Amino acid sequence: MSTAFSSLSLPPALLSNLSDLGYQQMTEIQTASLPLMLAGKDVIAQAKTGSGKTVAFGIGLLSRLQVDDFTTQALVLCPTRELAEQVSGELRKLARFQANIKVLALYGGVPMASQVASLAHGSQIVVGTPGRVRDLLSRRHLDLSRLSTLVLDEADRMLEMGFAEDLAAIIGTAPRQRQTLLFSATFAEDIQRISADIQREPQRVTVKAVH
Ligand code: ADP
Ligand code: MG
Repeated sequence: MSTAFSSLSLPPALLSNLSDLGYQQMTEIQTASLPLMLAGKDVIAQAKTGSGKTVAFGIGLLSRLQVDDFTTQALVLCPTRELAEQVSGELRKLARFQANIKVLALYGGVPMASQVASLAHGSQIVVGTPGRVRDLLSRRHLDLSRLSTLVLDEADRMLEMGFAEDLAAIIGTAPRQRQTLLFSATFAEDIQRISADIQREPQRVTVKAVH
């Protein structure tokens, strides 16, 4: 059984963009998590790659965005440069119904200069790997004081890769009043611990298999 995106109360321009992108029926993770996200809840979701999580948290964070404000309002942290590229590309497609939304990808292994210049122009949505994001934060090129949505994508992989300290440093500079969405392939103990540390009354969503 599946449910249409049109059953959610979303801006008509976003709904028609979803339809243009070929997204009509929600996947299981979208059906389970979007009503919670749209209600402003913190969500911890167990879901594999390919289950539609990027579209889920993308719609969630877009629904909270103040478009006229170019400060960074949404931060998506992910384990690798490839994932940051992929997620930022998907978010740009989701956001194209609305002019003026900027999505910036930040990762290491490339010079900082162009990332610094892009940050100076302002970007409401930042997608990045923990090391580079922390570096840009500590150099004050990135400001999270107006953050309203924090997403940890593939949190289990980020912990495996040794990013726990970077994550703590980054999240420590974000406002406490925010929505935090955490995605992981497992709910191992270290994931539950980080959820308890950074989320507020997290709603748990589990999707067993890709539909
Ligand atoms: P994940 O982040 O879980 O890996 P994505 O959000 O990137 O998954 O989605 C995986 C693929 O499925 C992408 O190609 C995306 O375009 C497509 N997709 C996502 N949601 C839907 C949907 N509701 N209907 C059809 N295709 C979708
Ligand atoms: Mg994806």
